[in-house]
Amino acid sequence: PPVTRFAPSPTGALHIGGARTALFNWLYARGHGGTFLLRIEDTDKARSNPENTQVILDGLTWLGLDWDGEPTSQAANADRHAEVALQMLADGTAYKCFSTPEEIEAFREDARANKTSTLFRSPWRDVAEADHPDAPYVVRVKAPRDGSTTLHDTVQGDVTWSNDQLDDMILLRSDGTPVYMLAVVVDDHDMGVTHVIRGDDHLANSFRQNLIYDAMGWDKPTLAHIPLIFGADGKKLSKRHGATAAADYQKMGYPAAGMRNYLARLGWSHGDDEFFTDAQARDWFDLDGIGKSPARFDLKKLEHISGQHIAIMDDAALVAEIQGYLAATGALALTERQADGLLRAMPALKERSKTFPELLEKAHFVLTERPIVPDEKAAKALDATAQQYLAELTPHLQNVTWDRNTLEEAIADFATARDTKLGKLAGPLRAALAGRSVSPSVFDMMLVLGREESLARITAAAA
Ligand code: GLU
Repeated sequence: PPVTRFAPSPTGALHIGGARTALFNWLYARGHGGTFLLRIEDTDKARSNPENTQVILDGLTWLGLDWDGEPTSQAANADRHAEVALQMLADGTAYKCFSTPEEIEAFREDARANKTSTLFRSPWRDVAEADHPDAPYVVRVKAPRDGSTTLHDTVQGDVTWSNDQLDDMILLRSDGTPVYMLAVVVDDHDMGVTHVIRGDDHLANSFRQNLIYDAMGWDKPTLAHIPLIFGADGKKLSKRHGATAAADYQKMGYPAAGMRNYLARLGWSHGDDEFFTDAQARDWFDLDGIGKSPARFDLKKLEHISGQHIAIMDDAALVAEIQGYLAATGALALTERQADGLLRAMPALKERSKTFPELLEKAHFVLTERPIVPDEKAAKALDATAQQYLAELTPHLQNVTWDRNTLEEAIADFATARDTKLGKLAGPLRAALAGRSVSPSVFDMMLVLGREESLARITAAAA
C-alpha cells in the first residue's frame, strides 16, 4: 500500500496550494488503503516557528485531513541526515571540498568572462584523502557530468535534463550541518514514502534529489508534480486574488466538505463530475486524473459546490460545524437554546445556502428572542394595513391543528375572505415572525416556532 506525505515548511499559514497538495496526498493514501504522513520541514530555524506549525495542523484538522502517527520534525533528524552524507563519503559517491568562498567566486568570474558554465567544478573531486589539507571543508555529491537524466513523473511525463546542468551540490556545510535537499531524501526514504505528490515548483529539485537516491542505491518514489494554482487572470495565485490561506475560507463560512470537493477539482478531474462526496473522491482519486495545466481558482464554483454540500449534510453535523465557524471568526458561540432551534430549523435552512453566514442570516428567526425588533425592511412591511391584517388573522390560527396543510389552508381562507392575496400576507407575517425580510417560508417558520411562540410574535407585531 502507498505511503504519502505532506511536508510543509512552517513559515506561514497553510495556503490554498498547500492544502490542495495535502488533500491529494491524503486522498491517494486513503483511497488505496495506504498511509498519510506529516513531516514538518523546520530546518530553516530563522523562518520556522511552533506557532506556524500549529496553524498548519489546525488548517489540516479543519479540512478533515487526518494524518497517521505523530507529525515528524525534519530538524530533529539532522544527525541521521549527516550520517547519510558520511556514508556517501565513505562510499566515494561524495567528496570533501576545501574550496573557499573566494575561490568559488573567482571560478564564477572566470566562467562569466569565458562564457562557460558558472556551475562550480571543484578541483577536489578526485583528490585522494592523503592529499587533503587540515582545513574546513564541505561535503559534495559526485554528480554525473556526461549524458542526461530522465525522470518519469506521473503528471509531467518523462522529463530529461542534461547532466552538465547538475552541479556537485553540497550535502554537509562546513559546520557539519546537512542541507535541506539531503534531509528531504533521507526522510522520504526512512519514512518509507512511496509517492511524492507536490507542487511542480519542486520538479527541478527532483533531479538533485535523484543524485542521492542513486548514490545510496535506494528505491525511488513515484513522482507526481502538480501544476500550481492560478487566479482567474491566469497568474499565480497570490494575495491580489483575495484570501489565500485555507483558514480564511473557514472564516468565510465554507463547509470543510465543500472545500475538499472544490480543492480536489483544482487540477484533478473525474470525467465531468464537479460535485462529489468524500467517499466518491476517495474511490475515484488517482494520479492519472491530475492535469498538466494550471487550474484556476474560481470563487463562484466554490460557492456553488459549497451550497450543494450544505444541502446534503447531516443537520447535527451542520450545527457543530457552524459552531466551529463562529469560534473561528471570534463570534459568540450559540447558546443551547439557539443551537437547538438551529437544529430544528435546519431542514428549512440548508437548501439554497451557499455559506454559513447566508444560512445564519435566514436562521435569524430562530436565533433571536422576543421582543422581535424588525430591521428597516421588515418594519416597512408592517404598516397600518398589515398590522390590521395580522390582528384579524390571529384568532383564525388559535385553534387550528398546527401542521403545514392546515396552516396553509387557514391563511388562504383568510386571504379569500378579506379579498386579498396570500402574497400580501406573507410579507407582514415574515416581518412579524423573523423581523427580517430574508428567512425560510412563513410556514416553515411557524412550524419550527410552534403555535405559542408564533402567535406571540404575530400579536406583538399587530399591536
Ligand atoms: N517543504 C516543501 C514546501 O513546503 C515541500 C517539499 C516537498 O514536498 O518535497 O514547499
